[in-house]
Amino acid sequence: MRILAPAIALALASAGLHADDQFAPLRDAMVREIAAMSSVTRAETGRAEFAASVMVAMVRVPRHQFVPPDEQPYAYENRPLPIGYGQTISQPYIVALMTDLAQVGPGDVVLEIGTGSGYQAAILAELAQAVYTLEIIEPLAMQARERLGRLGYSKVRARLGDGYQGWPEHGPYDAILVTAAASHVPPPLIAQLKAGGRMVIPVGAPFMTQYLLLIEKAGDGSLSTRQVLPVRFVPLVGGG
Ligand code: SAH
Repeated sequence: MRILAPAIALALASAGLHADDQFAPLRDAMVREIAAMSSVTRAETGRAEFAASVMVAMVRVPRHQFVPPDEQPYAYENRPLPIGYGQTISQPYIVALMTDLAQVGPGDVVLEIGTGSGYQAAILAELAQAVYTLEIIEPLAMQARERLGRLGYSKVRARLGDGYQGWPEHGPYDAILVTAAASHVPPPLIAQLKAGGRMVIPVGAPFMTQYLLLIEKAGDGSLSTRQVLPVRFVPLVGGG
């Protein structure tokens, strides 16, 4: 087994945070698996290890609270799970990778498209100053908002809406994460990305090969794009 970075080992050791949480050992095992996988995918991602802050967030957020009751036994397996309405909560490794690529820091204001269960938003809230998240399926949007409130994620604002258009009132954003696959990068999201900001988005036709893209906007507004990994996401619907 790989040796974990000290900060992560410390977070695991202080799982006393969740002393009453029977899932804590499974969550720790999930985080170790993510660490092992990040090492295997280093050539593609350019990241042998995800930031310690990202791994600590993965240790802290109770994924089992974000899946339907009958999926709870599988909540810490490193795979996507159904959350109803034909949608899925993303694979934990992918959540960690996207969060790492977005380089979210304490002062950042982040936009997420595709709230789904609210899990990715909770991970972002562990790292950022504020998180805005949009979901197009009404019952999922309502459930996620209720869940995030109940679990104390007060930095997250979640609402129903078409994420293709973004959420211009709170932008521009330091980071934008899109958790559904688009056929192209939505221009409104590019417009709402701050100079110096990062967008992580899967792009490709539904059910065909999609690629996770990291798009960086330089200080002068110019864009650079890196294709990171082939991925499979549910489609981004709505939009133009
Ligand atoms: N981030 C989620 C996983 C989301 S799956 C989590 O952590 O659980 C992708 C989600 O994107 C689905 O819930 C889907 O309904 C939503 N979605 C698809 N198209 C959208 C759009 N145009 N605007 C907002 N949400 C959208």
